[in-house]
Amino acid sequence: MPDPQIALNQPVGDEIKQTTCYMCACRCGINVHLKGGKVRYIEGNRDHPVNKGVLCAKGSAGIMQHYSPARLTKPLLRVGPRGKGEFKEISWEEALQTAVDWMAPLRKSDPKKLAFFTGRDQSQALTGYWAQMFGTPNFAAHGGFCSVNMAAGGIYTMGGSFWEFGQPDWERSKLFVIFGVAEDHDSNPIKMGMSVLKKNGGRVISVNPVRTGYSAIADDWIGIRPGTDGLLILAVIHELLRTRKIDLDYLVRYTNAGWLVHDEAGDGLDGLFVRDEAGEAQLFDMDAGKLVPQTAICKRPQLTGSVTLENGRTATPVLDLLARKYLTDEHAPEAVAEQTGVSAETIRGLAAELARVAFEEEIAIEQPWTDWKGERHERFIGRPVSMHAMRGISAHSNGFQTCRALHLLQILLGSIECPGGFRFKPPYPKPATAHPKPAGKPGTVKPETPLGGAPLGYPQGPEDLLIDGEGNPVRIDKAYSWEAPLSAHGLMHMVISNAHAGDPYKIDTLFMYMANMAWNSSMNTMGVIGMLEDKDPETGEYKIPRIIYSDAYASEMVSYADLVLPDTTYLERHDCISLLDRPICEADAVADAIRHPVTEPDRDVRPFQTVLIDLGARLGLPGFVNEDGSAKYADYADYMVNHERKPGIGPLAGWRGEDGDSSGRGAPNPDQLDRYIANGGFWHREIPEEAQFFKHANAAYQEFAVKMGFFDAPQPSVFQLYSEVLQKFRNAADGKTEPRPPEHLADRVRTAFDPLPSWYQPFEESLVDADEFPLHALTQRPMAMYHSWGSQNAWLRQIHGHNPLYVPAPVCDDLGIETGDWVWVTSPHGRIRVIARRMEGVNAKTAWTWNAIGKRAGAWALEEDAPEARKGFLLNHLIHELLPPRGDGRRWANSDPVTGQAAWFDLRVRIEKAGADEDHVTAPAPPPLKRPPGVEKAPETVAYGEFWKNGSGRS
Ligand code: SF4
Repeated sequence: MPDPQIALNQPVGDEIKQTTCYMCACRCGINVHLKGGKVRYIEGNRDHPVNKGVLCAKGSAGIMQHYSPARLTKPLLRVGPRGKGEFKEISWEEALQTAVDWMAPLRKSDPKKLAFFTGRDQSQALTGYWAQMFGTPNFAAHGGFCSVNMAAGGIYTMGGSFWEFGQPDWERSKLFVIFGVAEDHDSNPIKMGMSVLKKNGGRVISVNPVRTGYSAIADDWIGIRPGTDGLLILAVIHELLRTRKIDLDYLVRYTNAGWLVHDEAGDGLDGLFVRDEAGEAQLFDMDAGKLVPQTAICKRPQLTGSVTLENGRTATPVLDLLARKYLTDEHAPEAVAEQTGVSAETIRGLAAELARVAFEEEIAIEQPWTDWKGERHERFIGRPVSMHAMRGISAHSNGFQTCRALHLLQILLGSIECPGGFRFKPPYPKPATAHPKPAGKPGTVKPETPLGGAPLGYPQGPEDLLIDGEGNPVRIDKAYSWEAPLSAHGLMHMVISNAHAGDPYKIDTLFMYMANMAWNSSMNTMGVIGMLEDKDPETGEYKIPRIIYSDAYASEMVSYADLVLPDTTYLERHDCISLLDRPICEADAVADAIRHPVTEPDRDVRPFQTVLIDLGARLGLPGFVNEDGSAKYADYADYMVNHERKPGIGPLAGWRGEDGDSSGRGAPNPDQLDRYIANGGFWHREIPEEAQFFKHANAAYQEFAVKMGFFDAPQPSVFQLYSEVLQKFRNAADGKTEPRPPEHLADRVRTAFDPLPSWYQPFEESLVDADEFPLHALTQRPMAMYHSWGSQNAWLRQIHGHNPLYVPAPVCDDLGIETGDWVWVTSPHGRIRVIARRMEGVNAKTAWTWNAIGKRAGAWALEEDAPEARKGFLLNHLIHELLPPRGDGRRWANSDPVTGQAAWFDLRVRIEKAGADEDHVTAPAPPPLKRPPGVEKAPETVAYGEFWKNGSGRS
């Protein structure tokens, strides 16, 4: 007889509720088993399109996140100095009234004095709308310090990028190349996809300085030197061009390869496309012997040589410019081998293998379809090469151009939106021209007035920058200024330092959600803590006068807030995984999802989104109040159902219309949430077969996209090998057009805004002495954790209780370092003491560690001597938000000059062994934080399941 204690097939609970995981950003479907109203067990939802039942370690450990001892329990008002943890508990009414008292005068006088920034939340469609209604341009989420280079590089090149924008065609792909990926971007879907690909006999090549995670199961690992991915990719392109292994038919049909570019003539047209009176870019049709607009069917455009125009100017096709640029010796494999750390033979082999699979293993799906120009095709031709990349290649000061280079490589192979290649997920592809431009031009930011549009968008040229007549930034983070012209996700990492410096102006209130800026989300962490604590000596006021912060947990940032609005856990609230935001679609289906409370909070906490909607109503923000001034929405659930961004388009696309029989467009349906819940928490609609590939050019897909409400009119797009938007910035830098960048930035704009993907040395590397700082230092995200939440989770901490610095074996040999030794790591900015661990599978010039495991003592309800605080560490202490001074004494932001993306991975360091008599504790170790009121000391052992065993223990 089996022991009944371990008998299988016993129901684990008395109820199952289906919702969406939030233990990382992948948004898998989960079945939450409840017993007596408490969470007993979490499993994957087998019907869910994202994970099909697969659940990772993080997802299962959601139970311990939900019952974490670090949960906040009451609204808090600071009563002592910042950072001292002196708060008093207050009622929600007092908390909300305090927030309104602080924010309402700003809206009446100068809305930009409110800066509203959020972390990795999943409600940016709401938060951005709220900022717009408040009237402040100072809004963004965490993308600026995550992977905006990837997103913007993709949008400007082909209307989308990886992860939420698209995915490999896993079932048909035969070769998968993955570049520099944090292991949570994306998590379950990539693991599942790689497993399918490998079962089908496909190969995986990983290009990553560190051989962990996906790289560890790759068939080939290329341990590249950080910051040189662009060089490697352009050398592969050189080889493909040299051996003529590019998909010319694809390039003619789907890209601007044949578009004519004005040659240099010293005027504002230099490098811009030749256009007709209607503004259409022109090609030279070799059959017709004349210029034709790019909208015409042109089978044989001139692709090389020069074309003389009627006005006597000359122009050159894009493909000619491209070939001339990349066929030069500087892009030859031999020329880049030393810099990249990848041999010329390996680079040539990679190019040959890409070409072999793309062209010799071509696949076809016999499915007739019609393109946007009206031409009928009998089949979808596939090039079964797929790729994926994320923060590793983008978190560099040359990341935007590297991301563009990678997309260029995919396009030259003809492997975008085809069977076996990379496939967009709706509503992408969406070209930059189909996105709004950023709102907030000077003169439009006015008291008691909503912004004219969304604060974030995609500029089409210098004329769209948010700068005043003198070129000064409009935004506190200086997004969309000459310092970061295409900063589509803002620059959250610069907000506190700019606000502290009053540059470009002082703000009054910093309102943040789920952004741990006093620890792992800031560069120069100790400096940022100092800025949060710093007071104006004249007034005695804090330099950032007011900070409102919402979080579910006692993170480090809570201690530096003046008003704390405690959030619920993800199992206690409604959420909306919306097509208006960052959707969960698949390449062949449209999907969105919800979260809904599977259990009620046992603390005095409220969901942040509901609180934001309440604040919107109390502030009288348009969009959140009815005409009579009453609140428009009861809570977030009400908003999810009844908010319409435009008639018929709301946060959720499923079961719209009064009877719930419409998809995409339709009137609000009062039963919509019930329909989602009955369907497992998600909605899913297949794309018609004729519309499934070449979406950017497929007439049936475009029709489907309009029907679903992605666009109001078809938006077929042409992939931009050559970017005219970038060239416009170059022309401004050359003084040919207005507005112009300030003199001290002109060279940098000229270099960074190359209209064809290019590579330049990362800024920090170009400024520091390579002998003094010979190593790169990086972080990787562990598969088992996500941001700072994971390392307070009782189950996940057992996997990564602290983070060592992984040091390449040759460096260990040189310096006499053995695993377990304490070492000092020094950068141009700072010095940390950490535990070293020897590693073979890493680029010989790169040390690395896991991200966000180090904690400040006392935070997150951990013991003051927790291993996360004593042995865990942050690399952030070594990274400054400003680069070392240049020749003219100016210090540039440590960011990509195109998008403003934080250049975390440009860091250079040296390592020395710590003295034998030194403390074996991480340094720096700032004083322990005090637990906020309502957060009790965690029990010695956080056990799970005791509750059901004896009815008393912590569950
Ligand atoms: S991959 Fe992310 S969303 Fe999916 S189960 Fe794991 S933690 Fe949850």
